[in-house]
Amino acid sequence: MTRWPLYFLFTSEGNVLPCFFFILFFNHVDHFTVGFSLTENGETLVFCAAALLRGSAHGSTGWKQLPDGHSDSPPHVPVDELTTDIVIQVISNMTQTIRQHFPKLTVYPALGNHDYWPQDQMPDSTNAIYKAAAELWKPWLQTEALATLSQGGFYSQLAKPGLRVVSLNTILYYGPDKVTSNMTDPAGQFEWLEKTLQKADQSQEKVYIIAHVPVGYLPFARSTTAIRERDNERLVSIFRKYSHVITGHFYGHTHRDSIMVLPDQQGKPVNSLFVSPAVTPIKSFLEAYSNNPAFRVYLYNSKDYTLQDIWQYYLNLTEANEKQRSDWRLEYVMTEAFGLTDLQPQSLLQLGLSFMLPQTKTFDKYFSHYMVNYDSSITCEGRCKVSQVCAVLYLDQQSYSKCVAKGQ
Ligand SMILES: [Zn+2]
Repeated sequence: MTRWPLYFLFTSEGNVLPCFFFILFFNHVDHFTVGFSLTENGETLVFCAAALLRGSAHGSTGWKQLPDGHSDSPPHVPVDELTTDIVIQVISNMTQTIRQHFPKLTVYPALGNHDYWPQDQMPDSTNAIYKAAAELWKPWLQTEALATLSQGGFYSQLAKPGLRVVSLNTILYYGPDKVTSNMTDPAGQFEWLEKTLQKADQSQEKVYIIAHVPVGYLPFARSTTAIRERDNERLVSIFRKYSHVITGHFYGHTHRDSIMVLPDQQGKPVNSLFVSPAVTPIKSFLEAYSNNPAFRVYLYNSKDYTLQDIWQYYLNLTEANEKQRSDWRLEYVMTEAFGLTDLQPQSLLQLGLSFMLPQTKTFDKYFSHYMVNYDSSITCEGRCKVSQVCAVLYLDQQSYSKCVAKGQ
């Protein structure tokens, strides 16, 4: 097993300062000594599931503009304050920043719902933003990947021998995207995905799925899928069909830290899915809590690319604002926090099932991680807990509904 072979730098909704985690990487290079040496010899990959928009708008004094961690969410920029050109400029700034800090690294980006203007309205065919992304990401992506990126905002590329990254444009399935709401297969992505997974299977490759908006149910809402319900059903059925090829899923968008386990039709756990918490905090009117800024490092098995562990880092934002200094710390190591042997589907299923047991504090810990240590006095019980646990264990409509009906 390789100890530090793979970095995923996840930012979702980078509306404060996406380059922050790079700066912080360098501030805390002591945590990553081995990682950085691997970076230098090209062993490391960075996955940046980033909504890159607005990243440069706040500049390097971003922390000072942050709420103190328990008040406002970062303001959403009104549509009329942006243009296509500004969005492209922000994606460009972000790309340059990453390249500057990680010149030898191949980065695999995934488009987010704010990476378009007007936001969320990603079309099913080529446009100025997909084209600009393909132009900007030429240093990282090969010709075939750039071609589908500029057509539909998605791509796949062999990252290492036997490991393929599939970057999906799930904004095409996102409810607020009105452009694609009546389409059965926007940009032909479903068909492309099936073909790509089939080919990967034939070539004996393993696949990591990366995308911005996750598949499955939102853990903080009842019976609400993150993407449109019918598209969720289709995506889940494709993932089930090729679950033997896929060894990991990585999403963002919610800003919170959560897991999902995909069961097959018989209930056997077949895939592990991760939603990474964001560098930026967010809080809606409906929520009692926000999240602290976070980034994570994954450990994988270098032979079969199965996932072994997560090192989750975070910044106590209240403290950072008080001291005017950022002091990033390790929040948890996944296997240690929950007594797991690895992050494979069976282990995650056991963890998810343990949440239901009485007399156990496992779920409380999971929920504290969910908010990235935001406020330990906020708890999730009853209905809140049922929604959370059912979202971990079930991704399709039928089994999820049964779960919530049982748990109420
Ligand atoms: Zn998003």
